[in-house]
Amino acid sequence: MATALPSIVQAGAPVLRERAADVPPDRIASAEVQDLIDRMIAVMRAAAGVGLAAPQIDSPLRIIVLEDTEAAVAQLSDVERRERERAPFPLRVFVNPVLRQVGEERATFFEGCLSVGGYVGLVERSLEVEVAGLDRHGIPRSWRVRGWPARILQHEIDHLDGILYVDRMATRSFVTVESAKARFAGKPIADIRRMIGV
Ligand code: ZN
Repeated sequence: MATALPSIVQAGAPVLRERAADVPPDRIASAEVQDLIDRMIAVMRAAAGVGLAAPQIDSPLRIIVLEDTEAAVAQLSDVERRERERAPFPLRVFVNPVLRQVGEERATFFEGCLSVGGYVGLVERSLEVEVAGLDRHGIPRSWRVRGWPARILQHEIDHLDGILYVDRMATRSFVTVESAKARFAGKPIADIRRMIGV
């Protein structure tokens, strides 16, 4: 019998504000950690998210999963895709990820979070980063990326340190998803920033 998917923990839960624990490498192969990773992937996909951190399903461990599909990217306009440097990438799993900023370039875009349901806000992030960690088989992996995947990585790794995007956003840009769609969909980010005044 299939088990029901865990629900996504919402802002206010202490687990989202604590530093998650490293996973001992010899525990990665355990059924417990493998099941957790499977649940994270299933929850991310069911929510149509592009990333999920273990604390978001109430497991205070340093594990993240990320995936951006053709179908999701196809929802964007050409200008949105180009500006965000968003392109599909296959599923990735990082255990105990360590992030390094590459270069000085920054980018500001709307960001949402499955644990802050219904809202988005403008967040400035590093444009390019490199992550190093272990995959679900315990094999060391690194990934150097720029654009949207770099943003996803920074967002998810923040979760492991008890940080939510609202801690980093331009607070005046905090809006509902409906409002953002109605007012800003398809517009260049420079126009949106002028409209909001940030
Ligand atoms: Zn999030």
